[in-house]
Amino acid sequence: MASRRPVAIVTGSSRGIGRGIAERLADAGHDVVVNYRSRSDEANEVVASIAARGGSAVAVRADVSDRRDRDTLVGASLASFGRIDVLVNNAGITSVGRRDVLEATDESWEQVFGTNLKGPFFLSQAAAVAMIDSIRRGTSTRGTIVNISSISSYAASTNRADYCMAKAAMGMMTRLFADRLAEFPIRVHEVCPGVIASDMTAPVREAYDRRIAEGLTPIRRWGTPEDVAKVVAVLVGDDFDFCTGQCFHVDGGFHIRRL
Ligand code: NAP
Repeated sequence: MASRRPVAIVTGSSRGIGRGIAERLADAGHDVVVNYRSRSDEANEVVASIAARGGSAVAVRADVSDRRDRDTLVGASLASFGRIDVLVNNAGITSVGRRDVLEATDESWEQVFGTNLKGPFFLSQAAAVAMIDSIRRGTSTRGTIVNISSISSYAASTNRADYCMAKAAMGMMTRLFADRLAEFPIRVHEVCPGVIASDMTAPVREAYDRRIAEGLTPIRRWGTPEDVAKVVAVLVGDDFDFCTGQCFHVDGGFHIRRL
């Protein structure tokens, strides 16, 4: 039987921004599917933390770049909760080795595009089909897909070309699904985080401490997973019902061109 509460899949929610989103959506009344690729202990810890706060969650291992794993993720979500209302495409990796554009490799390209673009595209497709089915059966009234992109979708970093290009393409992916799914109704948005404290940015912590202190962002602090999670929680609610295909900057004002 389908859950009476809305159900959210958050990819890559064993840690970092995804964990923040999973916990926030649980607090907002969603049953949550905590997806991870390798760190089952950390995913189980997120599930336990949600349960301790009175919520409901399951951990599902799936590599979003793998078709069979994506099928497993959607199947396990439906088996656990009977419906899908929200998909947050959060799982992502940085450019492997952060090589200069003149030394970039096929291997990094395959991994980054597989995880950061192909995975989210086909997971959106599969989740949308399940959402449409839930809406037609009357189990759900609406759906939302949120794509976690980046300031790197428009700010060039010459040592992360594949990452920047995959994030840029995610903007078009957002608009394509937003257009196609509007009628059902399923809303699709993109969130562009700025510099957020997580394992991904740990190796460049000191460099960004300095750049933020020097004024990289009008709001001179690191972002947190909670900063991103709060915005996602608002986007999946009812208040943005006449909006779709939009990009929300969660970046301390980084996107403002300044003189
Ligand atoms: P993170 O701390 O490195 O965490 C990455 C998460 O994604 C982990 O839960 C990891 O699971 C999961 N993951 C990685 N590859 C996966 C795959 N193939 N299939 C399923 N799960 C996978 O990263 P983060 O900083 O929280 O970043 C989250 C998202 O925000 C990414 O899309 C990133 O590009 C974006 N973003 C981050 C920043 C930033 O400053 N941190 C800024 C802009 C955008 P396991 O641990 O189990 O492997």
